[in-house]
Amino acid sequence: MVVARAFGKSTADTKKREMERLAALEQLDLLDTPRDDGFDRIVRLIKEIFTIDIGLVTLIDAHRQWYKACSGLSADEVPREDTFCRYVVDYEEPVIVQDATRDPRFAQHPAVTGDSHIRFYAGVPLRTREGHIIGTVCAIDRKPRSFGAKDLAILQELAGAAMDRIELLQSAATDSLTETLTRRAFKQETDQLISLALRHQHNLSCVMLDVDHFKSVNDTYGHAAGDDVLRAVAATCRANLRAGDLLGRLGGEEFCIVLPHIDREGAIAVAEKVRAAISSQPIQGDFGSLSVTASFGVSSLSIVTKDIDTLLAQADAAMYHAKHSGRNRCISWASIGAERAMGSRRRVLKAGAILFNDRRSTIDCTIKTLGIDSAGLSVSSSAGIPPEFVLAIKGEGFETLCQVIAQDRQSVEVAFKI
Ligand code: GH3
Ligand code: MG
Ligand code: MG
Repeated sequence: MVVARAFGKSTADTKKREMERLAALEQLDLLDTPRDDGFDRIVRLIKEIFTIDIGLVTLIDAHRQWYKACSGLSADEVPREDTFCRYVVDYEEPVIVQDATRDPRFAQHPAVTGDSHIRFYAGVPLRTREGHIIGTVCAIDRKPRSFGAKDLAILQELAGAAMDRIELLQSAATDSLTETLTRRAFKQETDQLISLALRHQHNLSCVMLDVDHFKSVNDTYGHAAGDDVLRAVAATCRANLRAGDLLGRLGGEEFCIVLPHIDREGAIAVAEKVRAAISSQPIQGDFGSLSVTASFGVSSLSIVTKDIDTLLAQADAAMYHAKHSGRNRCISWASIGAERAMGSRRRVLKAGAILFNDRRSTIDCTIKTLGIDSAGLSVSSSAGIPPEFVLAIKGEGFETLCQVIAQDRQSVEVAFKI
């Protein structure tokens, strides 16, 4: 019955709803933000109330489902087409699957036939006040079970609590764990500083840093120790910065510094000072004493770099270069421009667009791997893609001219043209 209703909608209508949904999600700027106790509590409650294996609070963009909070699963994100939750978005209603082996939509799903052994699924929409479904809240189990009207009402209440938490966080300027700026506040303030720097022709630089092998800190010493390390890294950064500098937490163990009035050389010196301080100061706690290092990427405003998205993307690319050339080091965007031959790529799931025919034609794609000089894309069909095109990363203001180096029916490998 629900399926029939979904198919009953016109394609144009569905497309419009999806565009509005994605715009609402983008506006919240929540994807890839750090863990948050409020959402962790909700997934713990799901597990306890329903005595169930897995609880999730998720966000779903055009290409992936990302777990804002997750208990009982090890992944952080999955391609949208592989999820049960995509049906919640498509139907705009809760989906309950008492036994996935008996449901033709899921019986052959690898999560059902494989080691994960998923049997039961209940997912409800995470809905904004305006009615856009930005994700889901779900309860999942490895054995079949029933789920009555009362259970569904409780799960919907928990989704309401998750949405309240999202709204509350929109107004928070500081990250509760590290007392640095939240990503949203950091970007707002950076935007203002960039405008000022451009207007008055001042320098401005950006330093991105990511703690090295942080996962093994959590795995070895526990999550609480990991949290202590994040607090200590933020404190070390702060101790080495001036009052007018910005420090924000962009992701789990990823921080970003904005240095007004500082050029590239000056920013490399600041990054080097912070790097040395982090690596030389052991962190003390209940776990004893441990040392960490971090990798740094530096970028600066220039004739070609005039907006926050480009500035952050360049610092990010330089930081990944620092990771791949041994970690615990600082690399600037300008120096990687000169040695583009490296070719290591990181796994991403970004929404992209292939533009050609003087930008009159567009094909949507998922960027699956991304490096300094190349990318791997997946498309619903590679037919009609020309040998050269512009690749745009949606929402990041990043565009590059590309040459196809290999392709099959649904994937395209490209090299960036300089
Ligand atoms: P690399 O050197 O390549 O950066 O490796 P890594 O282990 O630092 O990076 P990876 O992305 O594999 O792991 C980051 C981990 O950080 C995974 C995630 O569970 C953890 N994490 C994210 N946010 C938090 C948090 O708020 N607290 C704690 N304790 N851990 C977090
Ligand atoms: Mg890391
Ligand atoms: Mg990281």
